[in-house]
Amino acid sequence: VGQGDGKGQGVSVRLSNVKRAYGSVLALAGLSLEAEPGEFVVMLGPSGCGKTTALRALAGLEPIDSGSVYVGGKDVTRLPASKRSIGMVFQSYSLFPNMTSLSNVEFGLKVRGISATERRRRAHEMLEMVGLIEQADRYPHQMSGGQQQRVALARALAIKPEVLLLDEPLSALDAKVRANLREQIKQLQREVGITTFFVTHDQEEALSLADRIAVMNNGNLEQFGTPTEVYSAPATDFVASFVGNVNVFEGTLLDKETAVVPGVGNFPYRQSEETPTPGGSAEILVRPEAMTIRADSDGEYLVTDVTFLGSNVKIKVERGDTSFIVIQGSSDLDIVSLGSKVSLEAKGSAILVRRKAHL
Ligand code: ATP
Repeated sequence: VGQGDGKGQGVSVRLSNVKRAYGSVLALAGLSLEAEPGEFVVMLGPSGCGKTTALRALAGLEPIDSGSVYVGGKDVTRLPASKRSIGMVFQSYSLFPNMTSLSNVEFGLKVRGISATERRRRAHEMLEMVGLIEQADRYPHQMSGGQQQRVALARALAIKPEVLLLDEPLSALDAKVRANLREQIKQLQREVGITTFFVTHDQEEALSLADRIAVMNNGNLEQFGTPTEVYSAPATDFVASFVGNVNVFEGTLLDKETAVVPGVGNFPYRQSEETPTPGGSAEILVRPEAMTIRADSDGEYLVTDVTFLGSNVKIKVERGDTSFIVIQGSSDLDIVSLGSKVSLEAKGSAILVRRKAHL
């Protein structure tokens, strides 16, 4: 999606069957992924799943064993990093410590042989864009971590790259700054319209930033979908457990649409590869907010913890020796008290039904 003002052009980006091994470790096991022009893709997964390797392969900083990388439909697999039109921001400490913000932002332009007047103009424009024009003459050590990352972002965008790659750019910052900068990055990305890949292991960050999330595990793509798809219709067991909180009930399948959970009742569900045939027992995965809780002296669940979270309340209940989490609106707070019996009822659907785990 071109912006028509010479800013980001928004190109498609494609990884096709990319493999990369380190000795016997398969960091990328044939990764295929395509981002639409201007799309914000978040690569999410546990430590060691291959996110950084994927990003570095895109940038040309990492040799790949096989597969191809396309930017704007062009095969760049064999192009070195310096010939790819890519801006990058790393976790931290990526600014040159002996240069001011302005010189840091100018750096890439200087390397590209852009005239002093033009690069000064563009560096000012970029610092303005990230709200740091007042800090133009400061050195990295004179700025907060959040400000440094904004300078790093300005520096990455100054060269007007076709693609922006961000590798855990917020993880070194404290919670408040992180949330704030997250919003700024999202807004900036929309304004500039640049195709962006953002690596994180933080699911909340992924859900709030992404147009689509690529959930990775063991060098493989588990699912590539919108935050809603990934959260509400996880393709695999791994995605269901990795993104968001989940309760695992043991129950039975009434038919191809309805599961039955003891002490709760019927739950609608959606078939997936993991679903066993109806009739037998199964594990039924339910989000904490997909149930309602009711005070009930005959209820089969015991309230063992209540945590007030502001607009929501998190209630821990137990049945036998298994515990479950229910999230309710705060207005329902008075219906539950610690040690009381309650019953649960389906409000939404189960997100996944799978065979019972082997013991
Ligand atoms: P993290 O969130 O911890 O950064 P990640 O998902 O980014 O993890 P990668 O850094 O891509 O994961 O690593 C994928 C796998 O490849 C891991 O098992 C890692 O140990 C291995 N690996 C990465 N780089 C190297 C290297 N230079 N030499 C050997 N093994 C490596």
